[in-house]
Amino acid sequence: MKNRYKWLKIMTGGLFAAYLLLTGYLFLCDREKENLMGDLQETVYWQSGAEGSKSTDQENRNEKVMSTESGEEGKKIALTFDDGPHPIYTPMLLDGLRKRGVKVTFFLMGSAVENYPDIVEQIAEDGHLIGNHTFHHVSLENADNNLIEAEVLSANELIEEVSGQYPQFIRPPFGQCGDQIESETGMICVLWSIDPLDWCTPDASKVVQRVLANARENGIILMHDQYKTSVLAAFTIIDQLQKEGYEFVTVDEILLD
Ligand SMILES: [Zn+2]
Repeated sequence: MKNRYKWLKIMTGGLFAAYLLLTGYLFLCDREKENLMGDLQETVYWQSGAEGSKSTDQENRNEKVMSTESGEEGKKIALTFDDGPHPIYTPMLLDGLRKRGVKVTFFLMGSAVENYPDIVEQIAEDGHLIGNHTFHHVSLENADNNLIEAEVLSANELIEEVSGQYPQFIRPPFGQCGDQIESETGMICVLWSIDPLDWCTPDASKVVQRVLANARENGIILMHDQYKTSVLAAFTIIDQLQKEGYEFVTVDEILLD
């Protein structure tokens, strides 16, 4: 009898553990699930995703081309990239932007600027706008003067030293910008209006679809030059939206004009 209870306990415990693992898995975003499953071929994901979404992309495109023909020309839209620079994906992005003649806005982290100053120099040389994303990716929601000095002003100084640009714009990590940031630093907090959650999916075509479906005049698109899929998605987004009459600009042209 005792033995039977013991087995019952073990089985119940096992089922409960399995349940916890499953619910935890469901809360992970797609990119984390893929990492858990091992390094599944990125290229296969990219290709099959691109194939699968062709018809939707085509439909979106047609709709928007028609609205462009009805007289809307030169609609401004801004691509922004957070968390960089990245040693591989930022140079890859810069190459593609140069080929397309497009300027974007980079919100750089001080700690990454320290690690990759040459890439920051290249960003500036290519004519992109550089903004601040704090030194160590911290929340600025309740920032006091000490935190502003350590995380915002020190990153501004480093960015100016490396790139020659003293940032006027800040993208607060997690979208939390306390009032004191603007009043204490004179900077402008830049949030976003289009968020394709590029960090959360290994499928570049999903990122493209989400942006195309939500694109609008004076939109600010949030992306991260931390993933190959984000860079590839950005190129497709630029090529499609340019065909639809959009002009890619840096955030100052949207916020200050
Ligand atoms: Zn960030």
